Amino acid sequence: MALQIEQFTCSSDNFGVLLHDSRSGQTALIDAPEEHSILEAVERTGWTPSLILITHHHGDHVKANLALKERFGLKIIGPKAEAATIPGIDETVEEGSPLDFAGHRIRVIATPGHTAGHVSYHLPEASIAFTGDTLFALGCGRLFECSAAVMFSSLQKLAELPPQTRVYCGHEYTLSNARFALSVDPANTALQERAAEVESLREDGKPTLPTTIGAELATNPFLRWHDPAIRRHLGMEAATDAEVFAEIRRRKDNF
Ligand code: ZN
Ligand code: FE
Repeated sequence: MALQIEQFTCSSDNFGVLLHDSRSGQTALIDAPEEHSILEAVERTGWTPSLILITHHHGDHVKANLALKERFGLKIIGPKAEAATIPGIDETVEEGSPLDFAGHRIRVIATPGHTAGHVSYHLPEASIAFTGDTLFALGCGRLFECSAAVMFSSLQKLAELPPQTRVYCGHEYTLSNARFALSVDPANTALQERAAEVESLREDGKPTLPTTIGAELATNPFLRWHDPAIRRHLGMEAATDAEVFAEIRRRKDNF
């Protein structure tokens, strides 16, 4: 695989990601949170982006669109349902739209929940997924435009990706997510170990991303609706998976 990734912090807790194909020399940017951090990353890597893949329309993901378009003349692709609120968008995608980057197939997965049109991008051959503000390390996005049931079915789709899939997310929220996760899944030893690891990474100022689907399945309460210990902890042994998810989301909102 000729794909390389540069992940970097934008603003306080957003991530920018440059995806570079060394064979063709092409570069794509995943979301456009902050112009100057992106320009620094472009400078550092020498990778000039020709494409931005947008996950959703929130300001902290599209803020640099127009400035980068002006500077690099790049193409902006984003979710069809949010096209009206994504500055500079050239092409729209939805679930299953044919899409590729430098010969690498990209599966567009509709993952509404945080916003109604949110999409995630999965590169199956490279085993990489960009999940924006849908799936975070040890967490999931807040429900701004959809019900818990909608987010639940989006997370179900992501949970079915191969466990080795490397997951890049929109934000560094892992430390506070870990504290919440321990409150609903206190006896999970994999989670305890991961929380300690996250704490020491953050103490050293290091990112906790990317994660993997496998790590999330073992430790992220928002993907563990089936787990007997969590259900017992919540007193929801007989509830549906969607109900368990909704209760965990509700608790996180009030944590
Ligand atoms: Zn957002
Ligand atoms: Fe965001």
